[in-house]
Amino acid sequence: MEKLAIQGGVPVRSTMLAYGQQWIDERDIDAVVSVLRGPFITQGPYITEFEKEVASYAGARYAVAFSSGTAALHGACFAAGIGTGDEVITTPITFVASSNCVLYCGGTPVFADIDPATYNIDPEDIKRKITPRTKAIIPVDFTGQPVEIEAIMNLAREHGLLVIQDAAHSLGAEYQNRKIGSFADMTMFSFHPVKHVTTGEGGVIVTDREDLYRKLQLFRSHGITKDPSLLTQDEGPWYYEMHELGYHYRLTDLQAALGSSQMKKLDEFVRKRREIAAYYHEAFANLPGIRIPYQAAFANSSWHLYMLRFEREAFKVDRQELFLALRAENIGVHVHYIPVYKQPYYQRMGYSSTHCPEAEAFYQEAITLPLFPKMTRQDVEDVVRAVKKIYQQYVQI
Ligand SMILES: *Cc1c(COP(=O)(O)O)cnc(C)c1O
Repeated sequence: MEKLAIQGGVPVRSTMLAYGQQWIDERDIDAVVSVLRGPFITQGPYITEFEKEVASYAGARYAVAFSSGTAALHGACFAAGIGTGDEVITTPITFVASSNCVLYCGGTPVFADIDPATYNIDPEDIKRKITPRTKAIIPVDFTGQPVEIEAIMNLAREHGLLVIQDAAHSLGAEYQNRKIGSFADMTMFSFHPVKHVTTGEGGVIVTDREDLYRKLQLFRSHGITKDPSLLTQDEGPWYYEMHELGYHYRLTDLQAALGSSQMKKLDEFVRKRREIAAYYHEAFANLPGIRIPYQAAFANSSWHLYMLRFEREAFKVDRQELFLALRAENIGVHVHYIPVYKQPYYQRMGYSSTHCPEAEAFYQEAITLPLFPKMTRQDVEDVVRAVKKIYQQYVQI
């Protein structure tokens, strides 16, 4: 048996492999530089172009770009009319932004447990958590695997709820052969560098509803409008009116130019991610004690994340030891995510009695492996070798 790096052995590779990373090429750089040489660096033509590209890719009528995915979620909660006393159901296995956006609007996030097979929010538990105060659902396509959006939409229609799909992980994924983006009332994509394509920081909401589209546009720009059809009066060409308490959440033209250039490579990036995921599947499918990610028959994941679940009783050591052993091999593993309600802020706010057993069990056993389109064959093989190396050492079944 090879001596593990954590025990003083030679690591599988000499430099740390990140878990996710952007892929910027010369065309992306040229696109940004051309904006810098032009007259508009903030509000210019690329924003609308980028929005059109995202809407068309996702199969939605409208898109509104924001300065981040988090700002976009805040906008979506505003457009949904979330306010004090309103409950919004979401998953605990997500980034804090998925529920913080509810808090920004004075609403109350309610956590429904995950399905232990898919790790996505369990529609059955959503059903149990619906009360007369429930106003919306924010399902998250965790790792890029779409949620059971049809079941969730049916449930929402039945109870008069809005659905904001957090698709930060699932740009390019398909549900029943249709791209994510035209199922929910609003769908959010993030353009952070670890996501599928990037604008540096950025987010987009797509929707088919004109009323929501108008609210989103107002919200990202101070609640101000210059649209003659909306003004209560018109005092002249300089005149504008503030109709809502909006924020300054605009994307810049520089970022939109980068986004447009990156969108052209999205399908290729997703194809590469799927290829790497398939390679991992094959490598890890037959290791007792390790669970590879579930792939639903109704969906085609865009593989933002690839994680393995190390069943506690199958190993001599716990997840932390396994994680540290992989890091020592220079594999930049991660953990996604700490159940949101476990965060000290949420605990202080009164979530200390919230308990989602499946989410907590999942959190104890999950390790995210590196996965990004720019990974070389060697990088992928290093990951497989490192996992098998620590597996041999620590498995006890
Ligand atoms: C990245 C992410 C967000 C927020 O996106 P930002 O662009 O970083 O603000 C929201 N939800 C999930 C699930 C994410 O992974």
